[in-house]
Amino acid sequence: FIKFAEVSKRFGSNVVLDDLSFSVGAGERVTLIGPSGSGKTTILRMLMTLLRPDSGTISVNGEYLFHEERGGQLVTASESHIRRVRSKITMVFQQFNLFPNMRVLRNVTEAPVHVLGKPKDEAAERAKELLALVGLGEKLDAYPSQLSGGQQQRVAIARALAVDPDVLLLDEVTSALDPELAAEVLDVLRDIAKTTDVTMLLVTHAMKFARDVSHRVLMFNQGKIIEDRPPEEMFNEPRHERTQSFLRSVI
Ligand code: ATP
Repeated sequence: FIKFAEVSKRFGSNVVLDDLSFSVGAGERVTLIGPSGSGKTTILRMLMTLLRPDSGTISVNGEYLFHEERGGQLVTASESHIRRVRSKITMVFQQFNLFPNMRVLRNVTEAPVHVLGKPKDEAAERAKELLALVGLGEKLDAYPSQLSGGQQQRVAIARALAVDPDVLLLDEVTSALDPELAAEVLDVLRDIAKTTDVTMLLVTHAMKFARDVSHRVLMFNQGKIIEDRPPEEMFNEPRHERTQSFLRSVI
């Protein structure tokens, strides 16, 4: 469903992704782990088309975002094409990035109404369901500043789901939170993983959570995937020496 083929990216002399290929099936939940700077966030940003690769091909659901032609020329898909593919992909960030001047309900209805053109009532109804799902059914009229970090992040998750995405990208969504608030957010995500078939690509240092929700874990090191295995195997018997030392440092 998500396909990276021979993708490379460098910033100056820093090679961040090195001829990287991998794919993620529809409905699969895949966690990216690895040391800081190994290119995990870069992958999510390319799927959001916030960054473009230097070479290689990236497609989602058979549609290209970036495509390398014979002869090595990198072609970015047309703007309308990208808009269509992108409308099915959403991302939740480490910093919640809510609209501070909008109440919780409006934060969640904004994109369905103004980007997708959904009728307001319908969007509000769905937003209320999603806010109830993340445990915030009582906070519809609050402003983000009146909520804890964990609550804000749960609003951000409801907002991401409100556009009925095919792909949900989660970038270290609990790193800015105290352990207790992080646990609330992870519980919500566990529920979502169990009850929806959205394809998830996650970057996280919460290894127990990764073990619980992922179908596969990819270990990154220096712009390459050095291990790609189901979580039980990855965490119980890491093969690669670099994976062993990384896991020792985070668990
Ligand atoms: P972390 O866990 O720290 O977020 P990561 O594996 O997600 O690490 P990336 O954020 O993908 O790593 O970054 C990979 C490398 O690319 C880092 O060395 C970073 O400094 C560099 N980098 C990222 N964005 C830029 C940019 N816009 N300009 C220059 N260098 C960048």
